Amino acid sequence: MKRNLTCIICPRGCSLEVTIENGSATVTGNACPKGAQYGADECTHPTRTVTSTVRVANRTDVMVSVKTATPIPKDKMAQAMRQIRALRVDAPIAIGDVLAEDVCGAKLVATCPIQ
Ligand code: SF4
Repeated sequence: MKRNLTCIICPRGCSLEVTIENGSATVTGNACPKGAQYGADECTHPTRTVTSTVRVANRTDVMVSVKTATPIPKDKMAQAMRQIRALRVDAPIAIGDVLAEDVCGAKLVATCPIQ
């Protein structure tokens, strides 16, 4: 199986061709090793960093922006969003505070402070 992708690691945007045979990926078109890794990962086990917001329970109409500290499997994004939507946290919150220990295998951290 072959897939054509655009590498999104840097602004150069190399056009990648990824060939999958027997579960392993061969990448061409990449100008550097990061593109080969990106193409192989995207075709064998794609992941994404999830960014969202969480309601702050002890403030009126306040949300805190959050992200997963590490990428999670792409096919778990809907499950992660359900977990994040159900979450309530209390201020004060500092950047980098862990607001949930396990969102589909990743910690959820604050990306802005709430006093
Ligand atoms: S392959 Fe390397 S040079 Fe090309 S877009 Fe990806 S990171 Fe940039």
